[in-house]
Amino acid sequence: MADDRHGENGENGNSNQSNHSGTAVVVGAGVGGLATAIGLRRAGWSVRVLEGRTAPERYGTAFGIHPAAQSALDRLGLGGALRARALPYRRAHVRRPDGRVLAALPLERVERKAGRPELLVARPHLIDALLAELGRLGGADVEYGQRLTDPRTLDADLVVGADGINSAVRTAHFGTRSGVRTVGTVAWIGIAGFETGIHGETWGDGRFFGMTPVEPGRTNWYAAVPGATTADELRAAFEGWHDPVPRLLAETDPATWIRYEMRHLHPALPSFVTAGRIALVGDAAHAMTPNLGQGACTALLDAEALTRAVAAHGRTGLPAALRAYDAERRRSAQRVALGSRTLHRFVISRRPALRDALIGLLPA
Ligand SMILES: Cc1cc2nc3c(=O)[nH]c(=O)nc-3n(C[C@H](O)[C@H](O)[C@H](O)COP(=O)(O)OP(=O)(O)OC[C@H]3O[C@@H](n4cnc5c(N)ncnc54)[C@H](O)[C@@H]3O)c2cc1C
Repeated sequence: MADDRHGENGENGNSNQSNHSGTAVVVGAGVGGLATAIGLRRAGWSVRVLEGRTAPERYGTAFGIHPAAQSALDRLGLGGALRARALPYRRAHVRRPDGRVLAALPLERVERKAGRPELLVARPHLIDALLAELGRLGGADVEYGQRLTDPRTLDADLVVGADGINSAVRTAHFGTRSGVRTVGTVAWIGIAGFETGIHGETWGDGRFFGMTPVEPGRTNWYAAVPGATTADELRAAFEGWHDPVPRLLAETDPATWIRYEMRHLHPALPSFVTAGRIALVGDAAHAMTPNLGQGACTALLDAEALTRAVAAHGRTGLPAALRAYDAERRRSAQRVALGSRTLHRFVISRRPALRDALIGLLPA
């Protein structure tokens, strides 16, 4: 059924909504799924969002949102909501454990080129903003507690797998050749209740620590150490590192730390779309290690590109829309994933002197 709300606001400029729009099921209500549902609703599609969790998940620390992903959010109508809660990320460096600066992160260069800074936003704020926009558009409430086991039974013109790294849609429709691989690193993330004034990453022997702004009065941190399985072990691994590293770990309650195994999708998928009606977005399509901080950005770019193509081609042109989406996003997202994995290897190097000499060649 065509939805006249979208005919009214004319956001996609289509005059023939009933022929143009169709039905879609989006599996997963993370960043990628919610942004996709918003884009499809704005294009006049009738959308169901199925989420396996029983309620919105409000945990998580910070997302970096680079300028291109901000533009994608602008086009989805969410730029204002993002900027209201985000902080700019500037003046960050790569350091050695003794605090010596090895290089500057290229944030100012990116800002000069794009005309706007990289932003950091707390994951719960971004999820809330996406849910609020979806609610405002109406007609696509998230159906919680709907963990899909057989996506082949879904009956809709378009099925979007936005169900994360262990995607059931990917397994059902794209097979198991590309699968989840661990990279042998366990990371911990947390938020401390004070600002540090020092941002960026500190690289040691096979381990690293990062800290960024996230909200006024709070600092987002992340750490990875081979073999550390307890808070005490993690704190011990960073003893003697420059301030504020030990302080951040000492003054964040370990009960709030999130521990996760770094993983990625390997080998890269030969296509993000299949059968003229199935598409993957976000981690389902190209899960990557978090080193470049691009997980949320790439999911947003996928969602915006997919829904723009669907709006342009309409229901009858769905196969062409999916081909256009794949052509726009696949190589680009897979390059980012490869870059992130390569950076991971570089950062956890057991030959830190060589690594630091190389990074030291960059401008500090
Ligand atoms: C709770 C949570 C906290 C996170 N915290 C951080 C963080 O602090 N920092 C960071 O950098 N990244 C974090 N991430 C990862 C980050 O959100 C993603 O890498 C990135 O945003 C891409 O998002 P996505 O929508 O593709 O996948 P995801 O964010 O993983 O979302 C996938 C969604 O699909 C749902 N789902 C999975 N399988 C099924 C199924 N069979 N049926 C129905 N629904 C299903 C999941 O419950 C989830 O809500 C977090 C992810 C989650 C789920």
